[in-house]
Amino acid sequence: MIDGTAGYGAQRARMVDEQLVARGLRSDNVLAAMRSVPRHLFVPPQLVTKAYVDAPLSIGLGQTISQPYMVALMTELLGVDVRSRVLEIGAGSGYQTAVLAEVAGEVYALELLAPLAERARAVLARLGYQNTHGAIADGSRGWPETAPFDAVLVAAAAPQAPPALLDQLADGGRLVMPLGDPHRDQVLTVFQRIGDEFRERRDTLCRFVPLVSDEDAPATPQVAPPVTRIAREEVAVTKAVAVRVSGSVQGVYYRASARLEGERLGLRGWIRNERDGGVTLHLQGDPAVVDAMLGWCRLGPPAARVSRVEVGDAAPDESLSGFEVR
Ligand code: SAH
Repeated sequence: MIDGTAGYGAQRARMVDEQLVARGLRSDNVLAAMRSVPRHLFVPPQLVTKAYVDAPLSIGLGQTISQPYMVALMTELLGVDVRSRVLEIGAGSGYQTAVLAEVAGEVYALELLAPLAERARAVLARLGYQNTHGAIADGSRGWPETAPFDAVLVAAAAPQAPPALLDQLADGGRLVMPLGDPHRDQVLTVFQRIGDEFRERRDTLCRFVPLVSDEDAPATPQVAPPVTRIAREEVAVTKAVAVRVSGSVQGVYYRASARLEGERLGLRGWIRNERDGGVTLHLQGDPAVVDAMLGWCRLGPPAARVSRVEVGDAAPDESLSGFEVR
């Protein structure tokens, strides 16, 4: 807890109680999703300790990962269940995509900026989601090939709902989107399709980044330079560390559990017992994921008692393909 990396589950539980339940969100499926999706894997490595704060965070390219409350609220307003097919516009970090994937059947996510879309895709794949489908495209045209949708979520602001998105809604389906001036406060608005009519309800004030069209994007000077600058930060870099764990960590399934956790996170590495009763690990992968695994190491499986974790740099070992017990 001291360094903020241990106990992400506890941080999420607190986030759900203090930020979501306290503000009146009540849908069991949405709260369960918010309790389980590892938000810290969707933020840039340098913000991993802030992942569960009550605010949006920068994800590069001038974009943000939405505040947890906004993600949960929009999901609740969509009213989806495991049979629903959902279209998401502005997938950004992919965090909202994962939350939708927990509560809905299939999620179709569009993102205009390729580096964000690629990073989101990698994290979602690493977490094992089978029901998310992503594409790099201008979302204001929707995804006609896979329409109609039971729900459409737009995570970027515009003065009006794009007609193509309303068009691709199934009967009874809902679209949730921030409407208004993209550079000021907007109104989170819910449309429900009844036949060929749309019922419109205004929910809360909010502030989102603008929904841009792909014709604007290349021509906008503010967008072009950051692409190269941030691209370097967004590209997956490999971090390798050597870890020594001391305490009561042998005979408690520490190694087998570490392998499962390492595989779940998509890390490469190994773990072995040491004669002094401790274990040694080599961890290698995306820095945020390595940090997440270090958080796990500090707790270990339920029967373990970890007294000390020492972390040092290690040389990446390109011959490693998975995570093994040695
Ligand atoms: N829910 C996301 C929010 C990302 S911010 C998250 O929590 O991570 C909004 C995203 O919308 C940005 O990534 C931006 O690039 C994207 N966006 C803006 N206009 C778009 C458009 N026309 N089509 C697709 N994505 C768009």
